[in-house]
Amino acid sequence: MNDHGTVIWFTGVPASGKSTIASLVENKLRAGGLPVENLDADEIRANLSPNLGYTAQARDENTKRLAWMGQMLSKYGVNVIVAAVSPLRSHRDRARAWCARFVEVFVDCPTEVCQERDPKGLYARAASGEVNDIAGMHMPYEVPASPEVHSRTDQVDAEACAQMVIDKLVELTYIGS
Ligand code: ADP
Repeated sequence: MNDHGTVIWFTGVPASGKSTIASLVENKLRAGGLPVENLDADEIRANLSPNLGYTAQARDENTKRLAWMGQMLSKYGVNVIVAAVSPLRSHRDRARAWCARFVEVFVDCPTEVCQERDPKGLYARAASGEVNDIAGMHMPYEVPASPEVHSRTDQVDAEACAQMVIDKLVELTYIGS
């Protein structure tokens, strides 16, 4: 039995599929009897820091909080799921440095497909000029250099993407098979 949990960090542009895969992974871990907490970035913002905003400094602060909560919970054996655009490599690397067990999942999908999906209406709001700070569109999204898992969500269905994450956790011996 491992005494340390894993922080599983999903990164990718909006509508790439982070939350969808994250909740499938959450369900699979829970079904396996493992403790798991899903720190959804939007929920954490809404509940802990509703006034934070989306400036560069605020995004830095938000990823810092997620990473800090992740390392705190994982110390006590909880597997922690974070789904956050987290466009900057330096922010993700900071999270990695803080967490003893860290699995970065690059949720990769072409912008055109994300725009068609648009489950939260974000790209529609960008088209009408209401939003102008989407990573991968208006501001850079720094592609992960060596993520533990690379999910092409335009090519592989969500269930298979989630299973790839579970398989990686097994391969790293962070969970049992
Ligand atoms: P994000 O959290 O990255 O903003 P969401 O998970 O909220 O994205 O939305 C992604 C959308 O794309 C959902 O409507 C989901 O059903 C759809 N989708 C289609 N194929 C996939 C896939 N392979 N993986 C994840 N989501 C997918």
